[in-house]
Amino acid sequence: MYSYYNDNTILYINGEYRKAAESTTDLYGQSLHYGYAVFEGIRAYKTASGEVKIFKAKEHYDRLRRSCELIHIPFKWTNEELIEATYKVLELNNMQEAYIRPLVFCPPNMTLKAASEAHILICAWEWGAYLGEKLLKIMTSSFERPNPKAFKIESKSAGLYVNSILASQEAKDKGYDEGLLLDQAGYVAEGPGANVFFEKDGKVFTPPLGSILPGITRATVIELCHELNIPLEEKLFTIDELKTADAAWFCGTAAEVVGLDSLDGQPFGKPWAQSLGKVLQQAYKAKVLEKEFERAEQLA
Ligand code: PMP
Repeated sequence: MYSYYNDNTILYINGEYRKAAESTTDLYGQSLHYGYAVFEGIRAYKTASGEVKIFKAKEHYDRLRRSCELIHIPFKWTNEELIEATYKVLELNNMQEAYIRPLVFCPPNMTLKAASEAHILICAWEWGAYLGEKLLKIMTSSFERPNPKAFKIESKSAGLYVNSILASQEAKDKGYDEGLLLDQAGYVAEGPGANVFFEKDGKVFTPPLGSILPGITRATVIELCHELNIPLEEKLFTIDELKTADAAWFCGTAAEVVGLDSLDGQPFGKPWAQSLGKVLQQAYKAKVLEKEFERAEQLA
């Protein structure tokens, strides 16, 4: 099993920096029993200047706050204090490139009433590209994304991730790298831990918000399309339409931008190296590392 901490690892909990190995949680917590907790996934990079920077820290902590508000978990922290604590966790652990996991969780309560107080934990570990570097073979999942009318789907809530685990494990059990989930109406929604894009005839498409997590990487890729004059459209599409794509990719903080090889065994039309996906993958990497990016060079 991957070791996320050792005897020296420091985490942040409710205003204090403590050893991970000596920190505990209450076994009667409402979060543990009902999945009633909210979390984030953030990355820090050693940028071109040599400085360690947390990518889109404000956007992630804004989403953490909104995720809590949507499911009525009290949130009493400011972005400033959380961002400061996050840099401190990196510094205390001597980390430069790290995956950061803030978690807001609730104290003991076995009722189904909303929490009246909450705790915050921020921990970090070194993590390579979550889905690897190679192109992924994905399958249409038999699991749908949770119904937006049954849940606050835009809240990055712990309990929602059982759906992601089911879809991801199903894909692995069937020999694929990852699953792709549909929404209630049968349109493509997202991966278990990443948003999806495709390219067709020089244009880029991604599902609109509604049945998906509003990914911060998704927003960054959209921003990059605008910066690079790549036509982009948010629209609903089916698996059949996706199968006609020239290229497709997943994107998320942990996975970054990762190309897809095939869907249900059917390869995408173009070699990845010649796709707009590859251009956006390199532009994303340049952005997080605060490096200059020249599209012309990439296509040469
Ligand atoms: N969808 C789901 C279900 C996710 O878990 C994630 C990862 N947080 C994403 C999309 C991508 O979001 P982000 O780019 O903000 O990491």
